[in-house]
Amino acid sequence: MPASTAPRLLETEAGGAVAAARDLAVDALLELIEKSGLRGRGGAGYPLVDKIRAVRRNADGGPIYLVANAYDADPGSPLSRTLLTRNAGNVIAGIAIAAQAVGATEAYLYLHPDAVEARAAAEEALANELGVQIEIALGPGGFMGGEETALLAVLESRRAMARQRPPYPASQGLRMRPTLVASAETLAWLPLIVVEQARASTKLVSVTGAVVRPGVYEVTLGSQLGEILTEAGGASGKLKGLHVGGPTGGILASSRTDTRFDFDDLRVAGTHMGSAQVRAIAAGTCIVNEAATLFAYLAKESCAICVPCRVGTKRVQAILESTYSGLGRDTDLAWLDELGTHMERFSLCGFGITAPSILRTTMREFPDDYRIHIQEKRCPEGVCKPIRSRRYETMVQP
Ligand code: SF4
Repeated sequence: MPASTAPRLLETEAGGAVAAARDLAVDALLELIEKSGLRGRGGAGYPLVDKIRAVRRNADGGPIYLVANAYDADPGSPLSRTLLTRNAGNVIAGIAIAAQAVGATEAYLYLHPDAVEARAAAEEALANELGVQIEIALGPGGFMGGEETALLAVLESRRAMARQRPPYPASQGLRMRPTLVASAETLAWLPLIVVEQARASTKLVSVTGAVVRPGVYEVTLGSQLGEILTEAGGASGKLKGLHVGGPTGGILASSRTDTRFDFDDLRVAGTHMGSAQVRAIAAGTCIVNEAATLFAYLAKESCAICVPCRVGTKRVQAILESTYSGLGRDTDLAWLDELGTHMERFSLCGFGITAPSILRTTMREFPDDYRIHIQEKRCPEGVCKPIRSRRYETMVQP
């Protein structure tokens, strides 16, 4: 299967889609969406039609809202911005069609404050007659501004913090009303589905790191990671790893180029679709240091409302920093494993639940990096500089 197909989302504007959708009964529209196999592109891969049906089930005659998430929380994966600047018409038409499907009369296009060009393109596309009121709303900046329930808090003028689910936004979302939250990339499929009965077969991906042509590409879902690298001109040198899914995604060995870029296959490989970033990590990189840097970022970006993530990210960061500073102990791996399990089981949102995939994959795929740091007290790549002179200790540890 080739990685690239004729770009659909990025280049095919489906003219007349909003009017064509209006001629369809809601059941017929939902059937088309179901047949397309459209799964949410925001990371979790939940079927869009199921979300729409859940919102409709909760309709009680009051307001229903729709939020198109174009926030691009991961700075390394500007998918929504790219989509809006290249094909804003499809995103806006997709919002109008989804609004019709759920019965929403108010919709929001939620953007990162830095997405100036994308915002201008969206404003231009909004000049068309759409039959729904669409407002552009700006998030606060920072990673958590893009989380599903945190963005609802932002739209209610509160801090970008996640909240417990259930209740899900489909029943109690914006202003406690049924709300459809879907990514801009997901919604951009709807005009193509209505006009061409298209199957949702491609996915935007951001290829970064040690490749010849970093950038945003549209690839066939299920392409192999190696094919995606080829799409970006191939590796620019020898590789050590492939970091897939953005800041909370796992790191696979560079030999795992046959892993398929698909929601389910990535989960089996120990990572996830997340922000759909594929980052090529150059040979000579210390993976323990890499994992510590990722956890330092996550500790900074955590919304801090729940303990497993607020404390867990900081502790993991500290243990990893101690390890690459020559202070590691044999028991550290078991301790990291236990912390990862706590985060996965008890964190409130996907951020804390998925972050341990960094630990799971790096300990599985790069055991020598950990072993050499812990047992031989040296960096396997000769690049780490100690940043801690004392270990991170607690009262109780394995
Ligand atoms: S897992 Fe992290 S980001 Fe998510 S709610 Fe808890 S503290 Fe916030």
